[in-house]
Amino acid sequence: MNIPRTSYPRMVIIGGGFAGVALAKKLSKQEVQVVLLDRNNYHNFQPLLYQVSTGGLEPDSIAYPIRKILKNFPNFYFRLADVEFIDTENNELKTNIGHLKFDYLIVASGSETNYFGNSEIEKHSMAMKTIPQSLDLRSLILENFEDALLTSDLNERNALMNFVIVGGGPTGVELAGALAEIKKGILPKDYPDLDTRMAQINLVQSSDCLLKGMSAEASEKAEEFLEKLGVNVWKNLRVTSYDGRVATTNTDLTFRTETLVWAAGVKGALIKGLDSASFVTRGNRILVNEFNQIKGFENIFAVGDIACMVTDGFPNGFPMMAQPAIQQGEQLGDNLLRLLEEKPMKPFKYSDKGAMATIGRNKAVVDLKKFKFQGVFAWYVWMFVHLFFLIGFRNRMVVFINWVYNYVRFDREARLIIRPYRKKLKEKI
Ligand SMILES: Cc1cc2nc3c(=O)[nH]c(=O)nc-3n(C[C@H](O)[C@H](O)[C@H](O)COP(=O)(O)OP(=O)(O)OC[C@H]3O[C@@H](n4cnc5c(N)ncnc54)[C@H](O)[C@@H]3O)c2cc1C
Repeated sequence: MNIPRTSYPRMVIIGGGFAGVALAKKLSKQEVQVVLLDRNNYHNFQPLLYQVSTGGLEPDSIAYPIRKILKNFPNFYFRLADVEFIDTENNELKTNIGHLKFDYLIVASGSETNYFGNSEIEKHSMAMKTIPQSLDLRSLILENFEDALLTSDLNERNALMNFVIVGGGPTGVELAGALAEIKKGILPKDYPDLDTRMAQINLVQSSDCLLKGMSAEASEKAEEFLEKLGVNVWKNLRVTSYDGRVATTNTDLTFRTETLVWAAGVKGALIKGLDSASFVTRGNRILVNEFNQIKGFENIFAVGDIACMVTDGFPNGFPMMAQPAIQQGEQLGDNLLRLLEEKPMKPFKYSDKGAMATIGRNKAVVDLKKFKFQGVFAWYVWMFVHLFFLIGFRNRMVVFINWVYNYVRFDREARLIIRPYRKKLKEKI
């Protein structure tokens, strides 16, 4: 990998997401060598992926080059690499670009879509966890409208304009709201010769409420907002199978749809070698102690979505969200330096800053520790927080300008099929 061995201890971080970047920033000015490995050369701001999928933002504005984030750090090395195996006995990583020894290893590989073992759904549905997946979804949505114009078969047109989103968490709710706005504001203008009333947006949730994990007020208000926007909210319904044309459920209800988005769950992105049953728990997450240390290892740690730290308040680990990931990354940075100075490490304490979701123009729900509010003010708070956490001044400006433009013009300029998505090709594989 062409990384010199120096007298400094080598700390290798797998993953340049929220946790990995926060950790690297803490360490890279210290007397340690930091190597960050990621299969992408950019940090991906996942909370805004749904805006890429629905043409509200270009992907460039929610991604940021990892090298640029850490460009002024003297002891920092980035390598574009897919880590394939962790050899814990020899403290060595096997990657697609070679082997690398480490003194300390921090796994910050995040999470991936969880299909709960349903290979049929995995094969035919769309996910929204990465930028390429979001671009595929954007292309598919737009291609469906183009195809709907061409067909004279009414059933076929219905299926092309029927969208099913599985999972009523923030991702599903935000995507459903954005699609409903496209139906209302964009379709009639772009496709005047198409009966856009046929476009249906269905949000399917297996439990009896949306936004589980947020307050009852937030959940109820989100549902009310969605229904006002014309989204069909299906609760206590589970999609059990999807063959690319028809989605079946645990009841008699079926959906004929060309687009099923699977936003029903994520699981830890485990890497071979570090997938032992003795420390891998619910949702493929790695059990760590209060210092983010993996059971049985002194020098191997896990942070962010992949880590499961069991506490009294969070018996299933912290929520798989950006805040726990950032806070764990920062705290582990301090702890690793303390470890090198032979000082005791400090236990991690999660400071829960709340949760929020937007449903569309002027509509959001915010749960803070002391206050809960919904509506227009919540929407401004949502925008401010997302702009604040976005990495890079240019990205913040571009997103801000886009949002102002979209708000004033009721528009979404990025509705482009740049990279056509061939659904039929995928199904043949
Ligand atoms: C659509 C969507 C919307 C979301 N909305 C919100 C929200 O509104 N608020 C919120 O708080 N959270 C939200 N989240 C969750 C939040 O994005 C995650 O909790 C957060 O990204 C976790 O950070 P992380 O650093 O653990 O992992 P990630 O940010 O996922 O980073 C993991 C990194 O590891 C890399 N990687 C993985 N495996 C390997 C490997 N083998 N080799 C090399 N590199 C590898 C990946 O490329 C990636 O860059 C959302 C997530 C999604 C998908």
